[in-house]
Amino acid sequence: MVTLSDLPLRQSLKGQQPYGAPQLTVPVALNVNENTHGIPDEVKTEIVESLSKAVAQSNRYPDREFTELRESLASYLSNTTGESLNPEQIWAANGSNEVLQHILQAFGGPGRSLLSFTPTYSMYPLLAGGTDTEWVPIPRLENYTLTPEYVAETLKKHNPAVAILCAPNNPTGTSQSLDVVKAAYDAFDGILIVDEAYIEFEEEPVSAVSLLAGRHRLAVSRTMSKAFAFAGVRLGYLVADPALIDALRLVRLPYHLSLLTQVAAVAALKNYPLMLQSVKSITQQRIRLAQALTDLGYTVNQSGANFLLVGGFADADSVFDSLLEQGILIRKFNIPGHLRITAGTETETTAVIEAITNLTPNHSGQSN
Ligand SMILES: *Cc1c(COP(=O)(O)O)cnc(C)c1O
Repeated sequence: MVTLSDLPLRQSLKGQQPYGAPQLTVPVALNVNENTHGIPDEVKTEIVESLSKAVAQSNRYPDREFTELRESLASYLSNTTGESLNPEQIWAANGSNEVLQHILQAFGGPGRSLLSFTPTYSMYPLLAGGTDTEWVPIPRLENYTLTPEYVAETLKKHNPAVAILCAPNNPTGTSQSLDVVKAAYDAFDGILIVDEAYIEFEEEPVSAVSLLAGRHRLAVSRTMSKAFAFAGVRLGYLVADPALIDALRLVRLPYHLSLLTQVAAVAALKNYPLMLQSVKSITQQRIRLAQALTDLGYTVNQSGANFLLVGGFADADSVFDSLLEQGILIRKFNIPGHLRITAGTETETTAVIEAITNLTPNHSGQSN
């Protein structure tokens, strides 16, 4: 039988593992930070109506410049950040993973490096590998935080072609101040990306979009996969100087955003207040989960996202397995004693709290 090692694979891909968060059908799936509330019915109807009109034009290639979608994204961002943004500053692709890939295709590559502060999003090293960009992981400080001084010193020393600050950071949840972004930008010559996949879940979101003026190497990446409950549609986007956006046109495939994707996203963005109405209740469930797990004696890391990184498990693997046996899927990493749990609906959160309470030695308040 032929295996991968018999093939003339590129050196940088040898021994790498594909992205592999388990996709299992379970009653309570809280492992990939999806919005478990789904889309409001009235928006669902509007999206379906737009799609059914668009299908009639499927014989033609879609708008390569996704003009209407860029206008919708610019207007959503202008309304929610208070900054005045125009469509020339917007890029989009099939998930922010593809947006980040475009960045690395244009600005990374052989002889160049991508730096980020770990633990962080597991896709960054895979995207680096896929574009033959050297991956430079630098550890975060105490409690996974970053300071302007530390970030500036690190970037000055390594001067990578691209650096990513994930804020709030996945998988730790850690929030980040704009001072860190400012210090990072001034410390090196490369492209600085702030990955704001979870920013809508911050109690008081402060987006790096407000720093774009006068910083042409800064890019802010966002996604509709989390707060917008649109992970299945695949729509990520980026805000930056129009010149940086032009660089991404050099590497994207023509017509990379399907007509159906463009139309669905435009309809969703038109209804953004409805699409985002679950955010508040998800945040409340995150706070409730944090309190319950703290009361049980676990260490809950500060989070501005829709998930928590929880430490203090004597045997995280066995907690993971035992929750899975009860139909609850959460996330384990190579951070010893830690598990990551997405904040879901009230019912899902109750299920997780009860399951972990029952597994916790000497817990109080449980009578059976
Ligand atoms: C989920 C996530 C994304 C979003 O990826 P999509 O490709 O847009 O679904 C981006 N960055 C981080 C840190 C994430 O956790």
